[in-house]
Amino acid sequence: MKTYRIATIPGDGIGHEVMPEGMRVLEAAARRFGFTLTWDERDWSCERFHRTGQMMPENGLDEIAGHDAIYLGAVGYPGVPDHVSLWGLLIPIRRNFDQYANVRPVRLMPGVRSPLADRKPGDIDMLIVRENTEGEYSAVGGRENVGTPEERAVQQSIFTRKGVDRVLRYAFEAAGKRRSSVTSATKSNGIAITMPYWDERFAEMAAQYPGITTAQFHIDILAAHFVRNPQWFDVVVASNLFGDILSDLGPACTGTIAIAPSANINPERLHPSMFEPVHGSAPDIFGRNIANPIGQIWSGAMMLEHLGEPDAAAAIVAAIEAVLAEGPRTPDLHGSASTQEVGAAIAAAL
Ligand code: ATP
Ligand code: MG
Repeated sequence: MKTYRIATIPGDGIGHEVMPEGMRVLEAAARRFGFTLTWDERDWSCERFHRTGQMMPENGLDEIAGHDAIYLGAVGYPGVPDHVSLWGLLIPIRRNFDQYANVRPVRLMPGVRSPLADRKPGDIDMLIVRENTEGEYSAVGGRENVGTPEERAVQQSIFTRKGVDRVLRYAFEAAGKRRSSVTSATKSNGIAITMPYWDERFAEMAAQYPGITTAQFHIDILAAHFVRNPQWFDVVVASNLFGDILSDLGPACTGTIAIAPSANINPERLHPSMFEPVHGSAPDIFGRNIANPIGQIWSGAMMLEHLGEPDAAAAIVAAIEAVLAEGPRTPDLHGSASTQEVGAAIAAAL
């Protein structure tokens, strides 16, 4: 029987409540589809930072480098600034394990009300692929002439051929498994050096995939179309900054961030990929067992798909849809069920 070794990082806050539900459903899938999961938990978190001054130990990444995947809950803790969890945990994992594709399915599910008028399940079903290692988030630059009238801050965007091509390729490959359409987010009128380069690489990649339909939009009008015409989009590929914005806008169009999943993927599988819900640690609801575990569970389905268990992944998504349609539901979806009741219902639906 195939065995997958998973590093789990519950993190902070509701990460501790939703992680056990994710594991419960994945265990149920493993029993049904005939594979084994072994879990190896790490206490890396803002809570750990609070105690020890470090989000994770010095050799932390070496400890999990040989695992098959990383399953993360959420990190964030009142009083610990966001950049600590970002630069102390999430960015080191993404960069060291070369997780260059940040992937978020955005899908309107049954039983969930979209803030967009008249949208039904099936109308919104896209995959946002964000470049995750370079681009606008480069950290190259600095302040000049500080304290003088000529003071200025300069930050470079860096787009490499390798970095752009590999994320574009991931998007085209993903489209081939979906509805065969890729939309590129760009802004080559205003950002006149790097974005035309992105467009050029996009055109070259498109030529290699004659079966895939392509479209390009400037980021501003693309954001408007997300709201007005979300049914136009299948795979949407974007740079680090544009992808960051679209991957918050997308889940907002489908009703609730509590069910949205995400993956940080190293497609070549040279390193473990990381799977985590879109939502944060939600300190406002932590400790009440009302957190919706679906974002965590759906992220687990993405993990199984990446590990080579697509049938198990599809069965989990179907079980999520069944439970969203019929309940039980947590209070964020106007139900009264607990985190554990929803997790158990999805495991049972499997
Ligand atoms: P962070 O800085 O960790 O991202 P945040 O406050 O920016 O935290 P979230 O933690 O995602 O963002 O919370 C945003 C809102 O959504 C909060 O009101 C929270 O209670 C709610 N929320 C987030 N996740 C869930 C969930 N799984 N179930 C129910 N409500 C949730
Ligand atoms: Mg946040």
